[in-house]
Amino acid sequence: MNMTQCPLCEQSPATTPYALTEAPSPMEIRICDRCAANMTAPTEHNDYWQCLTSSMWNEEDSVKVTVYRLLRQLSGQAWAQEALDMLYLEDEVKAWAEAGVPTINSTPTRDSNGTVLNAGDTVTLIKDLPVKGAGFTAKRGTSVRGISLTDNPDHIEGKINGQRLVLVAAYLKKS
Ligand SMILES: [Zn+2]
Repeated sequence: MNMTQCPLCEQSPATTPYALTEAPSPMEIRICDRCAANMTAPTEHNDYWQCLTSSMWNEEDSVKVTVYRLLRQLSGQAWAQEALDMLYLEDEVKAWAEAGVPTINSTPTRDSNGTVLNAGDTVTLIKDLPVKGAGFTAKRGTSVRGISLTDNPDHIEGKINGQRLVLVAAYLKKS
């Protein structure tokens, strides 16, 4: 009986390797199957993850970073935000911890090909778009530089003919 306990829940044997992304050098911890499964959608396991309020005091950076990333995803919950406020990471550790926080809660904006669009991208219209109220049609092939994302993943904002317009992402192609 020399099985190491999972450092996250501190309850089950650590059997599953878990690689930390964005680490300055390859880093891996071992966690239990249950934590590994519940990690894919942390917000659906809010009660389960309250175990982090104990494991956040682990002294290993690799564990602390894993805890930090989970808490960040759960930070809509008051308990998780409180834990985050108490969790101390060195600045450089915090930087790569933050870089690896998954953004599973936000749906990416995608163009007509399914390519993810980011703020600042240049896109091209793939069809003629009558612009309501502006009295012109933005022609297919028109290039829109420096787009902005909106709260709605189906829409972006960009300037055509000097006018700031909301455009449907499905009618665009990343240039
Ligand atoms: Zn566990």
